[in-house]
Amino acid sequence: MNLIFFGAPGVGKGTQATMLAERLDVPHISTGAILRRAMEDQTELGRKAKEYYDAGELVPDELVTEIVVEALDSPELADGFILDGYPRNTSQAADLQSALAERGRGIDRVVYLTAPDREITRRMLARGRADDTEEVIANRLKVYTSETEPILDHYARLGLVAEVDGVGELDEVHQRILDAVKVEANSGS
Ligand code: AMP
Repeated sequence: MNLIFFGAPGVGKGTQATMLAERLDVPHISTGAILRRAMEDQTELGRKAKEYYDAGELVPDELVTEIVVEALDSPELADGFILDGYPRNTSQAADLQSALAERGRGIDRVVYLTAPDREITRRMLARGRADDTEEVIANRLKVYTSETEPILDHYARLGLVAEVDGVGELDEVHQRILDAVKVEANSGS
């Protein structure tokens, strides 16, 4: 199953995508996590991404698209994947679509996690990541609203969006996601 996890920063995509990836035994590709590792390791990618990342801006499309397209060609993704944090604007969505089409693949479902704004801000401040200061959070939410949220329409028109309430205990939300992607509670591992 090829899935996209969609939702505002701080809504719990990373945690839930990790849980689902374990359950379905498919790789979880988080562009944010890959960028954080690259910055820690001070690779060329990390150096190029840092100023955007630190400001809560989107890192240039070609850098993140390359990460994703490379991942698509790895054998581990042959049976499915969970994309978390990508695509984040219309141009990335178009690039993903053509990269998948070229490989005879497509997206099966977009899991759209939701939570009220104040809950999202509270969670991000509690998490305490380097880009989780109040100022940068405000910018990331602004970027989400103006650039990322609009691409949801595109997936909705294709009938791919499953909206899931992201408020609740981790296991509760996990169960809602399993229902949304139609996986039996006691199947899998
Ligand atoms: P995340 O961990 O998904 O919240 O991403 C953290 C930061 O990484 C974002 O604020 C962006 O600076 C950068 N980032 C992650 N994914 C993308 C993407 N698909 N496009 C551009 N920037 C991204």
